[in-house]
Amino acid sequence: MKGVVILGSTGSVGASTLDVIARHRDALRVVALTARSNDARLFEQCLEHRPDVAVLVDWLAAGRLAEQLQAAGLATRVLRGEAALDEVVRLPETDVVMAAIVGAAGLLPTFAAARAGKRLLLANKEALVMSGSLLIEAVRASGAQLIPIDSEHNAIFQCLPAAAVAGQRPPGLRRILLTASGGPFLGTPAEQLCAVTPEQACAHPNWVMGRKISVDSATLMNKGLELIEACWLFGVTPDDIEVVVHPQSVVHSMVEYLAGSVLAQLGNPDMRTPISHALSWPERWESGVEPLDIVGQGRLTFEAPDLERFPCLGLAQRAARAGGTMPTILNAANETAVQSFLDGHLNFTSIPTVIEGVLNCAAAAPVPNLDTILAVDRAARQAAANLIARLDGAAPDSVAGALG
Ligand code: NAD
Ligand code: MG
Repeated sequence: MKGVVILGSTGSVGASTLDVIARHRDALRVVALTARSNDARLFEQCLEHRPDVAVLVDWLAAGRLAEQLQAAGLATRVLRGEAALDEVVRLPETDVVMAAIVGAAGLLPTFAAARAGKRLLLANKEALVMSGSLLIEAVRASGAQLIPIDSEHNAIFQCLPAAAVAGQRPPGLRRILLTASGGPFLGTPAEQLCAVTPEQACAHPNWVMGRKISVDSATLMNKGLELIEACWLFGVTPDDIEVVVHPQSVVHSMVEYLAGSVLAQLGNPDMRTPISHALSWPERWESGVEPLDIVGQGRLTFEAPDLERFPCLGLAQRAARAGGTMPTILNAANETAVQSFLDGHLNFTSIPTVIEGVLNCAAAAPVPNLDTILAVDRAARQAAANLIARLDGAAPDSVAGALG
């Protein structure tokens, strides 16, 4: 019996994880469920999955949850505040931690899991983008197992030799082909991108995901973050990775070896496949995902990304090549700009403008420790917020002037 903690259980990945766990109650037990503030959703999840502990970061929401659980007669203990996330991760009965909090908020509990030597299922790509060298080192030092959940990285992991070590380039590898759906605006003309709404950006053609990653998929920043993520996970450089647009989202990525073999992992676009793989690894368990109808699918297509309409991918490649704190700065500027877009204060096409403005003012510095990362993250968010304040309400064609 393995004990599982889910960081971010009320989100899209969290819900898919609980769906897989419910199919394997003989092998998996929920130790703790955690979320930011959605007490209603967490209460429902507690009723169904009976965790030992439930954590809400928001104190008022945690109070409401405790009352509801008591009234329902459940023994689940409620903890509140950020420190409680680390606490449940470190419990001796925790074997597996699903890191599925969105954004930089997931950094510290993800590190807690790596340092405690747990099996770390990493969905929270922002943690790796912000602090890849430190996280890989923490995993190595504690002997934790790091299994990627991002569908592309999980696909690559499945195509690597069984002896592959996190952070080390696998022998014989020539390059990685990182597939991208292209997002909802793959065919949208450049002049129409400025006016797209958050609802349009969040309507992904193949995946149902949280709002932040949905916007990242629409700008192609998601692929940029994934490129950086792949560099850390597999010990490769940005030049070892080719991004390929594959609108059907059936091939989840490919690994090319020196002998010319290209291995791919295919499947329906459903996060329960990588989640089930990582929960059961090295075994392979049922996940509830429909079998792939390859004949019905018929055609699989591949094309190069358009870096002019989607500059975020190029910005991420630039940050990846610069290294040091640059990916941290990129991530902070992106999170700030995406939130501003979702809140209606920024145009879609101004997201890369803000990120580029922040990168242009920054220089890559070494990454000695987490405190440096957190300080750089705060400063980059402030720089992005300052740019956004200057852009808010500016006509789209005067954006460059507003920043000049
Ligand atoms: P989501 O928005 O649906 O859920 C986010 C979860 O994080 C929620 O449970 C929320 O309560 C929690 N959370 C948010 N802020 C928090 C805070 N400050 N403290 C504690 N908890 C907090 O997001 P998602 O789509 O499930 O994505 C989660 C992560 O997985 C992201 O990093 C995303 O990039 C990655 N990912 C998601 C998918 C997908 O299909 N959704 C695929 C690949 C990778
Ligand atoms: Mg992905």
